Amino acid sequence: MSTLADNLSAISARIASAAQAAGRDPASVQLLAVSKTKPASAIREIHAAGVCDFGENYLQEALTKQQALSDLPLIWHFIGPIQSNKTKAIAEHFDWVHSVDRLKIAQRLSEQRPAGLAPLNICLQVNVSGEDSKSGCAPADLPTLAKTVAALPNLRLRGLMAIPEPTDDRAAQEAAFATLRQLQEGLGLGLDTLSMGMSHDLEAAIAQGATWVRIGTALFGARDYGQP
Ligand SMILES: *Cc1c(COP(=O)(O)O)cnc(C)c1O
Repeated sequence: MSTLADNLSAISARIASAAQAAGRDPASVQLLAVSKTKPASAIREIHAAGVCDFGENYLQEALTKQQALSDLPLIWHFIGPIQSNKTKAIAEHFDWVHSVDRLKIAQRLSEQRPAGLAPLNICLQVNVSGEDSKSGCAPADLPTLAKTVAALPNLRLRGLMAIPEPTDDRAAQEAAFATLRQLQEGLGLGLDTLSMGMSHDLEAAIAQGATWVRIGTALFGARDYGQP
């Protein structure tokens, strides 16, 4: 087996055992392969091993890879910070956006979603660590934002996403993910998605209800330098 296929087996085993420990069906946790800085050839290899969902952070890099991989039935997720001038291309070329944190971006994505495509799946990114530097809407602003986004015509609000402050402390990891889960439940909108957990904290995220885990380095190896 290649290294990538080995990595995928190891991640799948981690997801399955974390789900089992939490009393959850492993199939309720989906793997989003985060391929930023990685070549199209690596995506092709991971897809051949059974993964269909790929996450990208940088628009231009993603568009180039999408073109190179247009023969494959891949599902593309945008997970990086979004500038207003990028919304049109994101609305045209992605199936999911996990990183919507303000109304203006959601409105533009809805207006610019092409008529022939299914509604764009949306997660609202929430700042659960309370740091000024982090992206994500403030928990206090979430209810209004969620209600407004849920009413936009060409979007389908699916759930919430967070990138908590990295820590090795399992209890602290779980506390941050529990906050996101409770915020989702508190909305009362029947949302089905929690996008939370990365290479170092997927177990804690699954214990707190993650439905997407976004895995980069544990799958593809360390990020390549000299790329955006
Ligand atoms: C890069 C990135 C990931 C993957 O992180 P790893 O620690 O490499 O697994 C997940 N989510 C977002 C939003 C990212 O930017």
